[in-house]
Amino acid sequence: SSWWGHVDPAPKDPILGVTEAFLADPSPNKVNVGVGAYRDDDGKPVVLDCVRQAEARIAGNLNMEYLPMGGSNHMVEEALKLACGENSEFIKDKRIAAVQALSGTGACRLFADFQKRYQPESEIYIPVPTWANHHNIWRDAHVPQKTYHYYHPESRGLDFSAMMDDIKNAPKGSFFLLHACAHNPTGEKGHFPFFDMAYQGFASGDPERDAKAIRIFLQDGHLLGISQSFAKNMGLYGQRVGCLSVLCDNEKQAVAVKSRLQQIARPMYSNPPVHGSLLVSIILSDPDLKKLWLKEVKGMADRIIGMRIALQKNLEKVGSPLSWEHITKQIGMFCYSGLTPEQVDRLTSKFHIYMTRNGRISMAGVTTKNVEYLANAIHEVTK
Ligand code: PMP
Repeated sequence: SSWWGHVDPAPKDPILGVTEAFLADPSPNKVNVGVGAYRDDDGKPVVLDCVRQAEARIAGNLNMEYLPMGGSNHMVEEALKLACGENSEFIKDKRIAAVQALSGTGACRLFADFQKRYQPESEIYIPVPTWANHHNIWRDAHVPQKTYHYYHPESRGLDFSAMMDDIKNAPKGSFFLLHACAHNPTGEKGHFPFFDMAYQGFASGDPERDAKAIRIFLQDGHLLGISQSFAKNMGLYGQRVGCLSVLCDNEKQAVAVKSRLQQIARPMYSNPPVHGSLLVSIILSDPDLKKLWLKEVKGMADRIIGMRIALQKNLEKVGSPLSWEHITKQIGMFCYSGLTPEQVDRLTSKFHIYMTRNGRISMAGVTTKNVEYLANAIHEVTK
């Protein structure tokens, strides 16, 4: 008799599996456009200069004490200013319950657990498509899930009217998961908008502009939740630094909510890690480092925008008669290409190009050296 004999291996993660297959491919032409992390024009990972400088400042000075349960107050303060605006009245009025979280994933999960505990009858509406882990996060928090229309396959853009219908038809007081740097629904039915902001600064190159959706909702008087991640916009992937905020009616409520978020965190991981949060607070609170960060995040966004233009141009150059306008119309790290799973399979087997089977191309994996090869291959499989 065995304790764990009944445990089957988990299915491979669709995104991490792509990287494994890529690494195992010996072809010199291979291209990885599956990975969701920024790469430079040589396909190499990047550590920002502002991060290196912040690291140099703390080197040797850092004690290894625990952070408070809610994380670094300084980091949380800076993260809130970045999300809600430097002069936000909600910050001044202390109406935001906010804690440091284990990057964006941890912020979403902490919120999902909070939602289950304090709105136990509620459901979460998740857009189609979305980051696949959203489904896992709310599933493991035992919150029932519904989906809402977001993507329009023909236009490869937003299906605004179907999305609005779904919002109108949802029961009053539903929770809606929104991607902060992309779209802007909910409103009339007292729904609760929860913004997942994993790419602030990455979409347009300007963190203020990418926070626009949140600022509009705040101005319109919505109570809302925000998950922030510093994985992408500061390149701090493995540091796991993020923030969860919940805007409340008043300060008293915010104090209570924050104490409950901490209570949920305590038996899960007790308190969050210190190193990445120090880097974030140093960078955001030092005028010179912040300026450098803004320049660097714009540099990353601009490279990606440039690669969108190059990919579309190259597809036209190799003679594809199809419309590829959506490559430059969409924003952010990814391009939802419209390639079918079969076409993706052929890209991989014939051309050693790796991506998830839903046709999602990570623009960060595209470089001046591989863009022509990639365009030609896409043309070949879409003929
Ligand atoms: N939300 C979205 C939409 C994402 O794409 C990601 C990362 N792929 C995350 C959240 C979370 O990332 P992390 O936990 O590394 O901050």
